[in-house]
Amino acid sequence: MQIQNVELVISAVAAGQYPTDQLPEIALTGRSNVGKSSLINKLISRRKMARTSSTPGKTQTLNFYRLNQALYFVDVPGYGYAKVSKRDREKFSQMIETYLTSRQTLKGVVSLVDIRHEPTADDISMYQYLKYYHIPVLVVATKGDKVPRGKWNQRISRISKALELNQTDQIVVFSSQTGVGSDQVWQWVEQQTAV
Ligand code: GDP
Repeated sequence: MQIQNVELVISAVAAGQYPTDQLPEIALTGRSNVGKSSLINKLISRRKMARTSSTPGKTQTLNFYRLNQALYFVDVPGYGYAKVSKRDREKFSQMIETYLTSRQTLKGVVSLVDIRHEPTADDISMYQYLKYYHIPVLVVATKGDKVPRGKWNQRISRISKALELNQTDQIVVFSSQTGVGSDQVWQWVEQQTAV
């Protein structure tokens, strides 16, 4: 998809602030530092639209990026950041849950995991949660450039196994450094949103 126009429409802290223009949405989730901002920036060909975090876990809002006035990317706060207080964490997990379970325009979730590591307990919970609510998921294994290509299949099958990846869900290797996987992610997004 050729991105002509990107706007950060709202950094929402409450459901009342979500956009009302009914465009299809793709949410992006993953633990802090997994490479989510880098992936968003790569996909929309902007260097610094989504904030890459030197202070991980700082983005505690749902950020709605409108692309070509056709769809939204919804950047979900990264989970698993230890320095966030328990109270804030609960507040945000509730906001995310409400969003994921009740948003009519949500068409799918890109769930990011680091290709180098076993999925964390949080990664597994998130995937199971999305499956429980029948939300289509694309698993993206980030930082592909950090693992030799010859090891990708092995990494992918370990991740798929740990997540108990559903047969209908795909997993894609991605790198924001090389751009590998970008086309596959876009293809999936276009399928889900019919744009
Ligand atoms: P976020 O917290 O999930 O938004 O993660 P960021 O996008 O801010 O990335 C976290 C760190 O990982 C930064 O230092 C990035 O430069 C680095 N990073 C992200 N994606 C990649 C990638 O594909 N390859 C490599 N080598 N580093 C990456």
